[in-house]
This record gives sequence, C-alpha cells and structure tokens, in this order.
Amino acid sequence: MPRRIAILGSTGSIGRNALRVIDALGPDYVVVALSAHTSVELLAEQAKQFEPRFVAVSSSDHARRLRALMDGQKAEILVGPESLTELAQSDDVDTVLTAVVGAAGLPSALAAARCGKRLAIANKEPLAIAGELLTRIAREHGSTLLPVDSEHSAVFQAMQSGLVAEVRKIILTASGGPFRGASPDQLEEVTLEQALAHPVWRMGPKITIDSATMMNKALEIIEARWLFDVPVDRIEVLIHPESIVHSLVEFVDGSVVAQLGRPDMCLPIQYALTYPRRVAGLSQPLKLDEIGCLRFERPEPETFRALTLAYEVARTGGTAPVVFNAANEAAVEAFLAGRIRFVQIMDLVERCLDEHNVKQRNVSLEELLDADGWARRLVERRLTLERMIDY
Ligand code: MG
Repeated sequence: MPRRIAILGSTGSIGRNALRVIDALGPDYVVVALSAHTSVELLAEQAKQFEPRFVAVSSSDHARRLRALMDGQKAEILVGPESLTELAQSDDVDTVLTAVVGAAGLPSALAAARCGKRLAIANKEPLAIAGELLTRIAREHGSTLLPVDSEHSAVFQAMQSGLVAEVRKIILTASGGPFRGASPDQLEEVTLEQALAHPVWRMGPKITIDSATMMNKALEIIEARWLFDVPVDRIEVLIHPESIVHSLVEFVDGSVVAQLGRPDMCLPIQYALTYPRRVAGLSQPLKLDEIGCLRFERPEPETFRALTLAYEVARTGGTAPVVFNAANEAAVEAFLAGRIRFVQIMDLVERCLDEHNVKQRNVSLEELLDADGWARRLVERRLTLERMIDY
C-alpha cells in the first residue's frame, strides 16, 4: 500500500522540497492533496505534475484563478481555512506534512493528530506554541509525530539508540547567526542591515532576524521539550558554525549519539516520510575530510536573552509559549519596519511575558489563539506609547 500524503503549504520552500523528495521516492509515495495560501500559479503547476485528488486555497478568488489554470484536470478544489482541516482528516490521506506558517496551521495539525495520522511537522507553531496540547492529542489517538526541522530530526534519529528514560541531555546545535561572539553592548548598535546579513543561510527576513536573536533556537528548545518529553533543563544549545552536526543526544552511560549530514532540508523531509525505513534519495554524501574541522561553543546568555527566556517559558508552559512567539513576531515586524532597535525586540518580548496572566493547565486551541492576539495587541500598544514619549 503506497503512502498517501497531504502537503499543507506546498508552495513554500519546505513544500517544494517535499515534492522533489516524493518525486524521487517513486510510486510508493503518492501526493493526495496539496494546499497553498496565495501562490496559485505554482500550485496549478504542482497539481499538473503530481495529479492530487484535492487542492486547497485560502479564498474563493484564488479558487477561481486556480480553476482557470487547472483547466482539464480532475482535482477537487477546496476553499478556505477549514479546507486544511478537511484534508488533514480525509480518509484518503495517511500522512500529513504540515508546512503552513503561523497560527493558520494549528487547527489542521491538531485534526491530523486527532485522526491518528502520521504527522510530519515542518512549521514551528504546532510544537512551539501548542506542544502540550498536540502531544496529548497525538498520544490519545495513536498519531506519530515526525519532526522535519533538521535539529529535531537529528534528535529523533539519535533517540533511537536508547530509551527516553536513558537520556541525560539533548544538545541542539545552532549556527550562531551574525552576532556570534558579540557582547550585549555591541548588540545595542546593531543595524537592520547587519541583522539581515546571516553568515551561512539565505532565508526570509523574519527567520533571519530570529536567527540573529537566537529566538529560532529558543523556540526549538520548547519544541524539543514536548516532542521528546524531556524536562527542559536537560536540553542544551551549542553553537556549531559549520552546521554539519544537526544535534546530539547524550545518554546516561556517557555515550553521545549525533546525526550529521550536509545542511540540506531534503534529508529530514525524506526521513519523516520514509520512517522507520531509510532509502537512497536526493541528498549528497557528506565528505568530512573536506570539511576538516567541526567547532562547538557555548552561546553567551547575556547576548542571547531569547535562550534564557525559553527555559522560563517552557517551565511555565500553558499559554506562556504562545505569548513568547506572538510577541516576538510582532516585535520583529516592528524592527523590520524600522520602528524599534534590535535589542528592543527582546525587551518587548520580555515585557509581554511579564504582563501575561498565564493559564497553565488544559489550555484549549481557542485559549492559545486568544493569548496570541493579546500579545500582538500589547506589543502594538507599547510601540504607540513609546513613540509618544519619544516625541
Ligand atoms: Mg532548525
């Protein structure tokens, strides 16, 4: 029986790579459903190549354009945010790859888990902001959660060397971003151009800034805590500028098991689809002799406040992670718009966390979304107030 896959968010970089991987995997992996937010042209091309049964777009305008572009094709077109949930629950689908950015991807991820599907998670929101809820639902309904993020895929692979109870610590690696080795004082002077100049990766502006503040890694700490059910105090971060060791697990006997590979998303995507099997795929072999040296260093907690906050947020749980994430999104947007300085991103995040009344237990999706909206409004209010003081 072939694996029947829905890709939610198929036109983004993860979605496009997933289709390349599936194409290379051959007939045992079938694309049943594709969805896109607005990139209708690309979605139509993908549908032509992969002939899914369903395609979904966010609005009826997009659906009309898609219908015109898909002239002569049989795929059923679904419309609106609920269509993602519909696809995630469909009996025609056994594996859901979720790569929808933002809170929009949450209901469908939870629906897939509730239906006991294999859920390959490529976006950070399901685990970073709804990790407690998602892992509880997955446990109750026998859904397998498979990480696609390179760090979590590495930990997931290393974990197969032992039991959760045998883990001494998880070590997440980080490239360190443009401000590796900077002092807190040096960060005060950082400009937008400097923050956008990542030494290794070319990425979108939001994720580049998150890598500069190490917020990206902070959210990964929270994700790992839920995904692997390990207390957050056993999760560490090491800066590893070469980005070859994707993460490591230290077991109680002192053995450290790591996963290495070229920095290439196709490998973790493929492993999430083929797990527990491994097959030859698109990834090129790693040549360690050409790389020669692998360096590791501890991140400076005073410089990267996001990391320190992540531990508090993960320990608090409940609605704290969603506020942490939403406040950061709003603050990064303000930084990219030239409204605040780099260091003020974390000031705003910290203030939101301070002012938030955390709900700690049995938090529902609605409560998570409410807290998300609250944090965004609070950042906006702060920004308006501070502008008034400035003038
Ligand atoms: Mg990552």
